[in-house]
Amino acid sequence: MQFQPFFNGMKILEELERRGFQAYFVGGAVRDFLIGRKIGDIDITTSAKPDQVQQIFQKVIPVGIEHGTVIVRREGESFEVTTFRVEEGYSDFRHPDQVEFVDDLEADLARRDFTMNAIAMDKQGKIIDPYQGKKAINQKMIHTVGLPSERFNEDPLRMLRALRFASQLDFDLDYDTYTALAKGGEMMKQISTERITVELEKLFAGPYVTKGIELLLKTNLVDYLPVFKDNKQLQQSLRNITMPFGQLSELLCMLVCWGEGVTLSDWAKAWKLSNRTKKDAEHLYEAIAYSKKNQLDVWLVYRLPEHLLDNFIPLYSTYVEPISRKDVNSVVESLPIRSRKELDVTGEDIIALFPDRQKGPWINQMLSELEKRVVTGKLANQNNVLKEWVKHEYHPQSTD
Ligand code: ATP
Ligand code: MG
Repeated sequence: MQFQPFFNGMKILEELERRGFQAYFVGGAVRDFLIGRKIGDIDITTSAKPDQVQQIFQKVIPVGIEHGTVIVRREGESFEVTTFRVEEGYSDFRHPDQVEFVDDLEADLARRDFTMNAIAMDKQGKIIDPYQGKKAINQKMIHTVGLPSERFNEDPLRMLRALRFASQLDFDLDYDTYTALAKGGEMMKQISTERITVELEKLFAGPYVTKGIELLLKTNLVDYLPVFKDNKQLQQSLRNITMPFGQLSELLCMLVCWGEGVTLSDWAKAWKLSNRTKKDAEHLYEAIAYSKKNQLDVWLVYRLPEHLLDNFIPLYSTYVEPISRKDVNSVVESLPIRSRKELDVTGEDIIALFPDRQKGPWINQMLSELEKRVVTGKLANQNNVLKEWVKHEYHPQSTD
């Protein structure tokens, strides 16, 4: 097993201990380390209060002081450092009414959602596991810390977190956790859409996504998800998903391809997606619509932003024909230009060719036409060739 990722974090633990505080690794990083899975963000839990942490380290970002969390930066890495705490009351189902800082690691572990996430590890790699999280990991089981119905009632998002962990880790829900979850759907109404979307994105990106989807359907949690809740047909279509999605935009494109009268804007609004995700999904959807008629051609690859190529491949493979990254790369390499900036003619050249015409959108239209002709190999990307063509051949309404 790899201890390396914890190396920088160990320095933080040492520093906190040197000042007389307790400090441990905790949460997803310890869980993933024990599973032997790649570690994501590293969380640290400590008896030091946020202001004390701020005094000890040079680079500290106060991300959630009221909940006891700051980010400590060290050699380019970020560590989420949270003060031992217990939580009381969840009347708004989002944030605990009160956060009380405590001195006791065990109390801090008790407030955590699942036993596999309630394991602490000290700087020597010693495991502190009062809730048998390790056993749950070995059995590949998701158990709440304490009574499932109470824990879900405190924060119903935990239900969705359970399913996304099933999808990421190939773990099953223990009987009581499953039963409470299957009964708890109504509580989902209390959680904000933004929090739901974050967990859904992780669920659909999980390597065991079919498991996550099966649980969404079997527990009826799907009846409380935006859009799906009003559309049984869409719910059933989820069973067609067999592979994880790299990004939400990819999933969104597939959902829109399924139709069922839900547009991309409907999805984006209901899921409160960022403009960036919406724009990416639009690009992907247009590319798929175009490729259903024209297949994989230079014009398509040219227009698709490079960061979406990997998301486009599985969609194209589903809706048109199977392709690999290699196939796409060979089209990319054959492109005569990669962007309009590389066109061997400028707006000024065009204006100079038609000195009597008033400036206007026609200049841009001409450049677009030239761009398409160069990309598709109908014109060579040479200044004189392009200028000759606009002078003698260009017809504004030309449509190929
Ligand atoms: P990931 O690998 O996605 O980061 P994670 O388990 O680290 O998974 P985070 O959302 O980063 O999840 O949370 C860090 C830790 O904080 C969790 O492992 C868990 O101990 C605790 N936690 C997070 N969300 C909740 C919650 N809603 N209720 C109780 N404990 C939570
Ligand atoms: Mg984490």
